[in-house]
Amino acid sequence: MRGGKVAVVGGSIAGCAAALAAHRGGADEITVYERTTGHLADRGVGVAVHTSRYRELESAGYLDADMPWVQLERRRWYVRDGSATGPLGREIGAMPFSFRTYNWGHLWRELRGRVPDSVVFRSGVVVEEVRPGIEGAEVVTADGTERVDLVIGADGYRSVVREAAFPTVRPAYAGYLAWRGAFPADRLPDPELWAREDGAYVVFPGGHSVVYRIPDGAGGHRVNWLLYTTPPPDLDLGLGHDLRLTGPAGLPPGKLTEALSSHLTYVCDELLPPYWGELVRTTLPDELFLQPMYDFTAPRYTTDRMLLMGDAATVARPHTGAGAVKALQDATALESAFATATTWQDALDTYDTNRTAVGGAMVDLGRRLGRAFVQETPHWRSMDQTALETWWKQAEAGGTFGGRELKR
Ligand SMILES: Cc1cc2nc3c(=O)[nH]c(=O)nc-3n(C[C@H](O)[C@H](O)[C@H](O)COP(=O)(O)OP(=O)(O)OC[C@H]3O[C@@H](n4cnc5c(N)ncnc54)[C@H](O)[C@@H]3O)c2cc1C
Repeated sequence: MRGGKVAVVGGSIAGCAAALAAHRGGADEITVYERTTGHLADRGVGVAVHTSRYRELESAGYLDADMPWVQLERRRWYVRDGSATGPLGREIGAMPFSFRTYNWGHLWRELRGRVPDSVVFRSGVVVEEVRPGIEGAEVVTADGTERVDLVIGADGYRSVVREAAFPTVRPAYAGYLAWRGAFPADRLPDPELWAREDGAYVVFPGGHSVVYRIPDGAGGHRVNWLLYTTPPPDLDLGLGHDLRLTGPAGLPPGKLTEALSSHLTYVCDELLPPYWGELVRTTLPDELFLQPMYDFTAPRYTTDRMLLMGDAATVARPHTGAGAVKALQDATALESAFATATTWQDALDTYDTNRTAVGGAMVDLGRRLGRAFVQETPHWRSMDQTALETWWKQAEAGGTFGGRELKR
């Protein structure tokens, strides 16, 4: 299929990749609408990409070795188990963990740099509404209404395109929180205790923390961590709304309430082994933010002349280790659907068949891992390597941690 006018709503990871895919697939006129002005603000935190998924995306031309990364080889599991076990805690077990870790900002800038000059990238423009039609769709901004052959919704979890396509789909609060933080690695307490190629899974009753290094873009590293816990029911989250009813708005850096800060201190002091508690405490308030955990999946990835990508289509919980991978794989599927189809309907159907099942499977995997890792945690202290492997096999249940293999 060649030609046509395509609008991409959102210019983040999925949006840049979508513009690249539409260009390579043969679309004539492509416009990206991104509400943020200039460069997207980087929070300096990380993204992990499974090495096998990286290879596929590299050969598809969406990632390459020029983007700085840190290669992880294994994950070590630690639990607080009395003072005799040393500052890291007791190591329950270790597993292979072949992931590349990135700084989100580097990944975005690299993808943005790949968007061809022929694509019109309209920064600072909000798409207010999308109106579907039989032979196309209309994109409404403050500047007027544009008629296009296809609208790609790459506009994240609060997607205006999904609102037009599937108005009843809403993110659902999972009942627990993720704290996220990152800081320069030279502030790391006793860096020798923890190897660069190791990711740490630090587990405790009702949650866990994942810690790994990411590049800082200047030849050094940042320490990146996530910590998941269910907050006590009476804890004031300070989010100012009922989480069950609203979208997944979190708290930006520097905005944690006192109650949240003291809950995090409690987790550091009482539940984490000393080294990992100290590592979290080393994070400054403006390096730390909070995300309530949500997920959802749209029933389909396409309808009429609207197509969804990345977080606009499905948000799987980050335990899956595949958020950015899922968005980039969507782009490769879009490119090949464009390249092989003879009509818009063909292209939409091929893409939908390819991606709806994958999105749903990743959401299911995120829910299973959320139960196993946060909501119904096992008795970690009584586990050894064998028990850990059995538990992980059950938790993952043949799912695809790190993302599904890319079929092109
Ligand atoms: C600034 C930023 C920083 C991030 N940092 C990290 C990180 O460090 N680690 C991590 O794991 N994930 C991060 N994420 C989330 C991550 O990018 C996504 O979870 C995943 O990669 C899928 O990306 P996406 O492009 O589908 O969605 P998103 O990255 O959420 O992008 C959606 C884009 O659409 C734009 N948009 C939304 N509505 C409209 C509208 N009506 N009109 C025009 N534009 C609109 C938004 O401004 C945004 O740029 C970040 C997202 C953003 C926007």
